[in-house]
Amino acid sequence: MLAANWHGPKDIRLEELPDPIEPTGEDVLVEVSWCGICGTDLHEYLAGPIFIPPHVDEVVLGHEFSARVVAIGDQVDSVAIGDRVVVIPHRVCRECHFCRRLMFQHCRNLQLIGYTRNGAFARFTIARQDQLVVLPAEIPEEFGALVEPLAVTFHGMRQPGVELGADITIIGAGPIGLSAVATAKAAGLGRIYVVEMLPQRAAIARAMGADEVLDPRDVEPLAAIRELTGGEGTSVTMECVGREETMDLAIQAARPGGLVLLAGITESPSDVDLNAAVRDEKEIRGCIGYFDGEFGAVIELLASGRLDPAPMITHKLELDRIVADGFELLVRDRDSCIKVLVSPS
Ligand SMILES: [Zn+2]
Ligand SMILES: [Zn+2]
Repeated sequence: MLAANWHGPKDIRLEELPDPIEPTGEDVLVEVSWCGICGTDLHEYLAGPIFIPPHVDEVVLGHEFSARVVAIGDQVDSVAIGDRVVVIPHRVCRECHFCRRLMFQHCRNLQLIGYTRNGAFARFTIARQDQLVVLPAEIPEEFGALVEPLAVTFHGMRQPGVELGADITIIGAGPIGLSAVATAKAAGLGRIYVVEMLPQRAAIARAMGADEVLDPRDVEPLAAIRELTGGEGTSVTMECVGREETMDLAIQAARPGGLVLLAGITESPSDVDLNAAVRDEKEIRGCIGYFDGEFGAVIELLASGRLDPAPMITHKLELDRIVADGFELLVRDRDSCIKVLVSPS
């Protein structure tokens, strides 16, 4: 099968790899329908290994995907051949301290499809049955490939301190920022303010439910947010960029006692001013994972129509174009290129 195989920074090769062998035990062989290129895939392409473990010389990337079940191991009872599924990339040990408390995203022996195991930028991949969530017939498989990033931000909206009707500032309208806009809306938050300077991203943020998009070239974002909130700041802020100045803004734009969710990853350690959090007793929480049940909840929101990720899908490609028209396009055109979906089959 053709696969996009990562060998190092700027070195993703389209290679013919052997098809995976027949699955055994609880493993399931799936044929990939659509797989999105994630921001972290782009980081691996430009500067990896970051999430790829240092001892891995090559791995097929791709962890945001929908698929069809084509073969099952002898202990599989939760899915059947032909099922359309979304795959949770986490393959957890089910034995460690965190797994026993159902905090699977913190599993100490976590394996990840697309980082530590071959992923979905290939026709076939293997998952264990507890990684699969069935996708109802009314949801397009393209949307299935967006369940993973939507689950990341849905997890953020379920943190203690995020309440119905609460206002939120979302900094950055890339794929995660836009997922945050959509899930904040679907989760019943109140006013949604977005900080973004690129015009097409700003337009998509509005289409997905942002009440106000602030362009930092036109207005001073902190002053604008304070003005929009009676001088207080928003109850929740979510940083989806991963830069020092936007992290500072996320802390400052939260109201006293508010919650700051950090979803962006910085490329190097940063000098964020934490006094703003200490002074006003703001809570800062990292936000990257999800619980398994959150995939199902996102799928229900998609099925009900309360979550519509269609405006985020800007490009669809065949696998053989993934480097030239996928990764390279994401580097070249950050504004118009949000979510690139790749079809390997
Ligand atoms: Zn991702
Ligand atoms: Zn574990």
